[in-house]
Amino acid sequence: MNVVIVGGGLAGISAAMALQETGVQVTLVEARPWLGGATHSFRRDGLDVDNGQHVFLRCCTAYQGLLRRLGTDHLATVQDRFDVTVLTPGGRGARLRRAPLPSPLHLLPALARYSPLSPADRLRAMRASTALRRLDPADPALDEVSAGAWLAGRGQRAWAREALWGLFITASLNAEVDDASLGLSAMVCRRALFGRTGAADIGVPSVPLAELHGGPALRRIQEAGGTVRLKAKAEEVTADPKVVVDGEPVAADAVILAVPHETAARLLPAEAHPGPDARWHALDASPIVNVHVVYDRPVLDRPFAAAVGSPVQWIFDRTAVSGLGSGQYLAVSVSAADRWIDVPTAELRDRFVPELRRLLPAARRARVRDVFVTRERRATFRQRPGSGARRPGAATRATGVFLAGAWTDTGWPDTMEGAVRSGLTAARLVRRHLEGVRDR
Ligand SMILES: Cc1cc2nc3c(=O)[nH]c(=O)nc-3n(C[C@H](O)[C@H](O)[C@H](O)COP(=O)(O)OP(=O)(O)OC[C@H]3O[C@@H](n4cnc5c(N)ncnc54)[C@H](O)[C@@H]3O)c2cc1C
Repeated sequence: MNVVIVGGGLAGISAAMALQETGVQVTLVEARPWLGGATHSFRRDGLDVDNGQHVFLRCCTAYQGLLRRLGTDHLATVQDRFDVTVLTPGGRGARLRRAPLPSPLHLLPALARYSPLSPADRLRAMRASTALRRLDPADPALDEVSAGAWLAGRGQRAWAREALWGLFITASLNAEVDDASLGLSAMVCRRALFGRTGAADIGVPSVPLAELHGGPALRRIQEAGGTVRLKAKAEEVTADPKVVVDGEPVAADAVILAVPHETAARLLPAEAHPGPDARWHALDASPIVNVHVVYDRPVLDRPFAAAVGSPVQWIFDRTAVSGLGSGQYLAVSVSAADRWIDVPTAELRDRFVPELRRLLPAARRARVRDVFVTRERRATFRQRPGSGARRPGAATRATGVFLAGAWTDTGWPDTMEGAVRSGLTAARLVRRHLEGVRDR
């Protein structure tokens, strides 16, 4: 039994490893020269740079399970307790920190003291969070509404939507609050903020993404007897099933297509598309931009911070991860970056470097040694109202051909956790399919 998996991102890697663990022979076909997909790294002027900062939460259990399987779980640090410094331009900033109380009370003291919002807005935010907790994220009606519209209806003014809700929703859904699906927003808030006490604790890689995912995955899959074909492009998938790779057909007992949705829509024969209403090729895409700034001295005294009232959303200290010897390297991560994706680097520098000076007093005295930008135009699908109904499950109409990818219907946003879950689901369906093939 040989299963061909197309796409070596976290979904494809997870599917491959899960199948190997049950004795299935896998061939992983990846168009690029490395595994890891949307999580990758490169060298630039002696630094290890990630294509974009990635973080996860303690509630991302499937993703952490993958790290354990890869033997890299010790290479990411999860906070002892949720603790985020929120910077405001020229202001004193604020701190959102989990209190030693049971959920859902654990974040209430932080919200009660959250100085970017007025006391009246804080009270309204508490009421809105009680209402949010009661929502059922699986209710299809929630997919039709934007989180922003729903929050506005619960007294959350534009500033509260940006300075409180946007901190979490924009970062997890790669969408402005007013453009984000309420269903997915409710899912994230319920799971992370109002779920188990430690659910929102933030995990940050302490090595480049290539060392956390892609490199170890290549070694593990090959050591377990799998075939990994890098720089190999799938051109067609037939319902037999068969995958045409660089002009040559590769026969398989089952195929998992773990590629972005536009590619999956193109590779899959039209008659195999799952369901007439599955308009998943229209899921579209949303960009993420990272502005990387290297200073001659330390300017941020913690691993990361968020910012409100500024185009800067989150700032991460990349000094140790990148191998920088002296000074400090910060990555400014901007989600839902439609406004910035086509702006030239020089203009981004002129916009973001002064902004960092407004947020970080120590940056006012520091010299900027280098600024560069990474742009991911199609970082995630656009998780706006109506998108949930467009996400297909793992099965297709072609027996033996399955879908995986963070864009499929995992119930999670387009994240590393979603990618891993999708891979595990596809692997489960493939195993069931192979049992049927064996019994015939
Ligand atoms: C800048 C950035 C920041 C992010 N930040 C976070 C974060 O902080 N936390 C978080 O959880 N998530 C984050 N994400 C999202 C997360 O990276 C993705 O959800 C996840 O990695 C997607 O994995 P995937 O396997 O579904 O798809 P992908 O990683 O896109 O993998 C698909 C693979 O298929 C390959 N492929 C495509 N076409 C073919 C073909 N024809 N033949 C062979 N191979 C092909 C591609 O090369 C790619 O390797 C971020 C994404 C980006 C881009």
